[in-house]
Amino acid sequence: MTTRDLSRFWEWGRKIICVGRNYASHAKELKNAVPTEPVLFLKPPSAYVREGAPILVPRYSCNLHHEVELGVVIGKGGTAIPSASAMEHVAGYALCLDMTARDIQDECKSKGLPWTLAKAFNTSCPVSEFIPKDRIPDPGNVQLWLKVNDQLRQSGSTSDMIFPVPYLISYISDIITLEEGDLILTGTPKGVSAVDQHDELQAGIKDVVTMTFKVDRQEL
Ligand code: MG
Repeated sequence: MTTRDLSRFWEWGRKIICVGRNYASHAKELKNAVPTEPVLFLKPPSAYVREGAPILVPRYSCNLHHEVELGVVIGKGGTAIPSASAMEHVAGYALCLDMTARDIQDECKSKGLPWTLAKAFNTSCPVSEFIPKDRIPDPGNVQLWLKVNDQLRQSGSTSDMIFPVPYLISYISDIITLEEGDLILTGTPKGVSAVDQHDELQAGIKDVVTMTFKVDRQEL
């Protein structure tokens, strides 16, 4: 039974599970192979940031990238959820940014190290308001866009995802039990680029939601 307020999932949700390289066009722009099964990593809930607070460039990075993504908010938990019933576990959605310290990620990749410093720092997961499930009838047909200082950088459709939302829920829940309030970040289309202090990021899901964030630097 739901006792917590899913419209404020970022205040109490316990996990953020992210999918990397879920659009062939983005895998290609970073010269990564197109995966044959989902690439997963985690962000801690302390990564959440909401409109009104800035996205901070970590002091150890000088190449912070935006990745605009559709987030899926879990309403009913489960383990080894079949794809066919996966959508019954979705409460709604959120527009999300998977902020990535690309210079640090490149270093981690070359050394075979985990991506924690590149992906899990404070403010690395900006999120919009909660979007109830009925406002997005088909998560496989959603138009995502992102502008930096009013210039369009990313524009893509979730119809280009390699692994669609029901498959991701099934795949992830077989490895990591999904719980109410968890968020799944489903990957980014092409067009990622660097942002720095004083930049303004605007992102949206066409006809559904928009959000705006300022960028600042972590204090030295
Ligand atoms: Mg991403």
